[in-house]
Amino acid sequence: MMMKLLLTEDQERLRSSIEKMVRIDIAPRASEIDEKDEVPVDIINIMSEMGIFSILVPEEYGGLGCGLTEACLAMEEVSKGSVSCASYILGQIFGAVSLRYGGTEAQRETYYPEIMKDANIAFAATEPQGGSDLGGIRTKAVLKGDHYIINGRKSFITNGDNAQYYVSLVRTEQGSVGTKGLSLLWIERPSEGFSIGKKEKKMGCRGVPVVELIFEDVKVPKSQLLGEKGKGMVLARILFSYTRTGVAAWAVGNAQAALEYAVNYIKNRPQFGQMISEYQAIRFMVVEMATKIEAVRSLIYRIASMADRGVMEGIHPLAAMAKWYATDIAMEVTMKAVQLLGAYGYTKEFPMERMMRDAKGLQIFEGTNEIQKIIISNHLL
Ligand SMILES: Cc1cc2nc3c(=O)[nH]c(=O)nc-3n(C[C@H](O)[C@H](O)[C@H](O)COP(=O)(O)OP(=O)(O)OC[C@H]3O[C@@H](n4cnc5c(N)ncnc54)[C@H](O)[C@@H]3O)c2cc1C
Repeated sequence: MMMKLLLTEDQERLRSSIEKMVRIDIAPRASEIDEKDEVPVDIINIMSEMGIFSILVPEEYGGLGCGLTEACLAMEEVSKGSVSCASYILGQIFGAVSLRYGGTEAQRETYYPEIMKDANIAFAATEPQGGSDLGGIRTKAVLKGDHYIINGRKSFITNGDNAQYYVSLVRTEQGSVGTKGLSLLWIERPSEGFSIGKKEKKMGCRGVPVVELIFEDVKVPKSQLLGEKGKGMVLARILFSYTRTGVAAWAVGNAQAALEYAVNYIKNRPQFGQMISEYQAIRFMVVEMATKIEAVRSLIYRIASMADRGVMEGIHPLAAMAKWYATDIAMEVTMKAVQLLGAYGYTKEFPMERMMRDAKGLQIFEGTNEIQKIIISNHLL
């Protein structure tokens, strides 16, 4: 049903191979993943072996050397089968993009190969006192000799439990206020002074641990700094331009899967002597769902093609538009899909209610949709 994207042969080959893998290995297990709150290791291994985690790793380091377009295709296709499984790709995007734009040659040589192996990266910005206002970050990294000494807590960190590497936004300029004085550090999972705190019990995106990270006098070599000291937010904006576009693709995958399921259902469900799909009120509902998905998909791949051509100017507010709009559409489409299935849509026998719960999370993380609107309005006004 999805309109053809203008993809190169290589991109279409990658997309269709992921689509096939998702159909066979992921989609049939999505309900079980949600029920057990666990993504099986073999699925992570399949994604790794297919090269999904290495999409943004340059070829000279053994990666696929692709761009944001391919990363979005992967997010979208995997999300169609399971929103939870797609979550594991996002951490790897954070890792690859932070090395690309902020990594030293030594960091790239060491960590690019690591990114390809496993879903082993978490991005850690949010703290217990707030996630929207990153200027309120309290986790301190104090430079002593050749090391930063880190103290603080990060909360709601996706994959924080399993990660081996944390790309973390911390305050390196003591006494600074707001987002000035923050830096990004690449932290190898510390063996001393580090622990996992509360594990959240979530409404959706189940199977992906979201946990608290506790740092108590954790020593990190100063060579782990990404980008410039005190300019972490400059680098973070570039990362968010990639990852928010990725989240938008993730939302589109979820919405597309819900739409397709619902369309198939209403074409086979008679009421009042004809299929539900024959009623104009229902047909218009489907038209609106499909059109909104197509519109935001076009925006996503336009942003991706800008990034892949190195056109970064103006991309940050565009990524905010895509993130906000796509995740709101996913929420709307999945809610309508529940409605189209009637009582069955409300049961766990059908995937609609899971897709709706998953969509809600997408509106919140990676910066809430209100925060995206603040970014867009600051750009416009
Ligand atoms: C499933 C899940 C996974 C997550 N994964 C990660 C992760 O991997 N790494 C990470 O760092 N964080 C992660 N987060 C945290 C997420 O980024 C934050 O929850 C989010 O940024 C909002 O922060 P908060 O929850 O503290 O809400 P708050 O900042 O307290 O906001 C509460 C509400 O107020 C609104 N609000 C706040 N300020 C304004 C304003 N100025 N104008 C209008 N409205 C406003 C918000 O939009 C929101 O609706 C995750 C969250 C979830 C739910």
